[in-house]
Amino acid sequence: MINVEQLRTIVGQDWVLTRREHMASYLVDETASAIRPKPAENVVLVKPENAEEIAEILKMANREKTPVFVRGGGTGICGGAVPTLDGIIISTERLDKIEEVDRDNLMVVVQSGVTFGAMLQAVEDAGLFFPPHPGAENAHVGGLVACNAGGVRAVKYGVVRNFVKGLEVVLPTGEILKVGGKLLKNNQGFDLMHLFINSGGTLGVITKVIFRLCPRFTSSGTLLISYEDRHKAINTVPKILQSGVTPLAIEYVEREVIEISASRLGMTWPATKGHAFLIIILTGDSEDEVYAQGERVSAICEQCEAIDILIAERKEEQASILKMRSEIYSSLKEKGLVADVLDITVPPASIGVMMDKVDEVSGRFHTSIPTYGHAGDGNLHPHLIIDLAERGILREVKREIYREAIKLGGVITGEHGLGVIRLPDLDLCPDGKIWELMRGIKQVFDPNNILNPGVGVL
Ligand SMILES: Cc1cc2nc3c(=O)[nH]c(=O)nc-3n(C[C@H](O)[C@H](O)[C@H](O)COP(=O)(O)OP(=O)(O)OC[C@H]3O[C@@H](n4cnc5c(N)ncnc54)[C@H](O)[C@@H]3O)c2cc1C
Repeated sequence: MINVEQLRTIVGQDWVLTRREHMASYLVDETASAIRPKPAENVVLVKPENAEEIAEILKMANREKTPVFVRGGGTGICGGAVPTLDGIIISTERLDKIEEVDRDNLMVVVQSGVTFGAMLQAVEDAGLFFPPHPGAENAHVGGLVACNAGGVRAVKYGVVRNFVKGLEVVLPTGEILKVGGKLLKNNQGFDLMHLFINSGGTLGVITKVIFRLCPRFTSSGTLLISYEDRHKAINTVPKILQSGVTPLAIEYVEREVIEISASRLGMTWPATKGHAFLIIILTGDSEDEVYAQGERVSAICEQCEAIDILIAERKEEQASILKMRSEIYSSLKEKGLVADVLDITVPPASIGVMMDKVDEVSGRFHTSIPTYGHAGDGNLHPHLIIDLAERGILREVKREIYREAIKLGGVITGEHGLGVIRLPDLDLCPDGKIWELMRGIKQVFDPNNILNPGVGVL
């Protein structure tokens, strides 16, 4: 039994929802419906206002051994925010204050329910820059940290983890912990802060985040490079990275999928020639610097037999190219085409081989596997289409792709995380000792396994 009266006492009558029709959107996330976990029947949704209220909820849940599921923006694509057992959903949406943009220290202090888009805007208004850019701006910053989100701009700056400097977290046992701070150096014992990053909400509820920021670049340009042949496009990537130019982003897309996204958004994909494309975003301190980088990158692409090069300089043009790229998954999903989107990552130089392996798998199973991704990071998103689920071979195909990625020294998830839906395939991942240690860590933080049970840890 969930102690609803106690929850009302903690957060106030208005912030406890018990009727299913009032919480429908909190029972799902953005995982494709073919593989999304089924939400439990008896769930109570609470919307606390601060860390102290969350601490009281968790103390109660821990005492009564009630499962608790944490929810940010609900944009996750591995089922992590879906309440799979009868219990409590804690939504962090009321922790929505941007507390400070600290220009002197180049840091921003935000509560965890602030949307990524709102934080980006505040940082930009202060003349600063937060480099990572995962595709869903309605994600919450707590979710970005809990999932260590990646996105298109990881080539130059890395993933969200690289920018987290401090966290406030409520432990499953109800203590409020502050780890890290506005510090660039901190060797005071084990780095517990990094354990919470990509913990998928299994070790604590993140309530506040301090991110490091960068000065804003003054100039940027987006190159859209067209190729007839995928291999030529992918072979260009290491040559660019070796040239000394480090782009903000190097993305690979194909006409077949990007045009679906463009048409859903009412936009036009600007490249008229070719079938395979690299999107390369360059940044610098002056237009001249970006221009010089553009010249060098264009020369490399031409040597690699690019058939056309478009340069977008205006901010709106660049933003619309990025938007079409970011919305591919949503567009394919909305059309009912996606059964699962994979997130395999291999050493960057192996990305071409990995794509060939995906082709081999698709040939073997007589299917088509549209694949695009973060070409500069070795992180690919093969889309397994709904037909595979209908034919009952979705898991088999997925596991074949996982095996190929692992053989190349890769992992089954590079940015979306294990969540709920990737756990059954962990038997493919070598070194059981790693999972044993992770289970031990979970046990230390959450002895009664009340927080996000069944997520992220076997
Ligand atoms: C269109 C689209 C594009 C995307 N592009 C990218 C991309 O480029 N790169 C990328 O990495 N991901 C991407 N994602 C996935 C997703 O946006 C990220 O994983 C994001 O970090 C999830 O944040 P959220 O707030 O929506 O979390 P939710 O979906 O609400 O939750 C995800 C997990 O985090 C936990 N969690 C959430 N908030 C907290 C908190 N405060 N404390 C503790 N645990 C918490 C939840 O329990 C759950 O396990 C994309 C998703 C979509 C729909």
